Amino acid sequence: MEISITKTTTPKAHPADDVLGFGQYFTDHMFVMEYDKDNGGWQNARIVPFENLSLHPAATVFHYGAEIFEGLKAYRTPDGGVQMFRPMENIRRMNNSAERLRLPQLDEEFALKALETFVSVEKDWTPYSEGTSLYLRPFMFGNDETLGVHPIHKAVFVIIASPVGSYYKEGLNPVKIMIETEDVRAVRGGTGYAKCGGNYAASNRAGEKAEEMGFSQVLWLDGVERKYIEEVGAMNVMFKIGDEIVTPALTGSILPGITRKSCIELLQAKGYKVSERLLSIDELAEAMANGTLEEAWGCGTAAVISPIGLLRYEGKDYIINNNEIGKMSQMLYNELTSIQWGKTADPYGWVYPVK
Ligand SMILES: *Cc1c(COP(=O)(O)O)cnc(C)c1O
Repeated sequence: MEISITKTTTPKAHPADDVLGFGQYFTDHMFVMEYDKDNGGWQNARIVPFENLSLHPAATVFHYGAEIFEGLKAYRTPDGGVQMFRPMENIRRMNNSAERLRLPQLDEEFALKALETFVSVEKDWTPYSEGTSLYLRPFMFGNDETLGVHPIHKAVFVIIASPVGSYYKEGLNPVKIMIETEDVRAVRGGTGYAKCGGNYAASNRAGEKAEEMGFSQVLWLDGVERKYIEEVGAMNVMFKIGDEIVTPALTGSILPGITRKSCIELLQAKGYKVSERLLSIDELAEAMANGTLEEAWGCGTAAVISPIGLLRYEGKDYIINNNEIGKMSQMLYNELTSIQWGKTADPYGWVYPVK
C-alpha cells in the first residue's frame, strides 16, 4: 500500500525545549488509515495535517472501549540524525494487543514503513537538548457505527507525535510508591498484557488516591490473591535482592515492557543473574526487613529507569537504599540512554535510524 503525503500549509512554531513536558505539544502531521473488514481491509494510508478526528457518536470506541496504543520514541543522535528504539517490538506488541481486543492485525512491515515515513516527515520536530525526544503514539480503535455489540468490522489506526522534555532535569530522582491493596489492575485471562486504554481506566481510582497521598504511582498486586507483585503504574518493576535481580514473570496480567526486556537482555549480557518469577509481597517485605533488598526501580519508555526510594505497604513505609539512586539503576539508565541517543555503539541491533 502506498502512503500519500499532504503537507500542511500552516506549520506551527516549535516550542522551546525547556517547556516541553510530556504530551502537551503535537507536530504538524499525523498518519491515518482505515480498516473495513468487508471492503478491502486496511486502506487509505495517508500522512495529513494534524487535525481533530471526526467520528460517529455510536463508534465502538466510545461505548465498548475497543482501543489499544503504543508508545515509543525517536531520539536525536550526536551527528544530527534521528533514530527509533526497537520499533518492531512495539508493532508486534500492538498486534498482540489487537488480537486480545479483536481489533484487526497490522502488516508488520507496513506498520514499520508507516512509522518510518511519518518520523521522516516530522524529523525536524525531534528536539536536540539532553534527554528530550520525539514521543510517538500509534493507536487503533474500533469504529463500527452501531450500538450493537458485535465483532469489530471497522477500525482506524493513527500515529501522532509529540516532542517531549527530559524526564529528569536534576538527575534520577527516587520516587515514592504505594502498594495498592484494594483495587486491582488486571487479572489473568483479562487484558493486562494488552496495551489498552481500558487498563488505564481501571487504574484511575488507585492512581488518584496515591497521588492525593503524595505518592507518584501505585504498585499493583495480582488480581486473584493480591499476593504477588505485578507492576508499577505504567512501568514494569525490578528488584535487586542480594545478587539476584528479580522481575515479575509475564503471567498474562502484566504488560510486557520493551524497556523491561531490554534491561533483562543488558543485565544477562553483563553476566548478572536475572530471574523472571513470581515475587510475593511477603518475600519482598522480608527482604526489606532483613536488608537484602538493595534496590528497586521501575522501567518504561517514558522515564527509562525510575529508582524507587520508598514503598508503603499496609500503612508502613520502607525506605530503599537510603532513598538514593542505586548502582544498578544508574548503570541501566546510563547504558540504555547512551544506546537510545546514539552516544555509544549499539551491540544489540536495537536502534533503527530514520532517513
Ligand atoms: C507501556 C507500559 C509499560 C512499559 O512498557 P515499555 O515498552 O517499556 O514502554 C509498562 N506497564 C504498562 C501498564 C504500560 O502500559
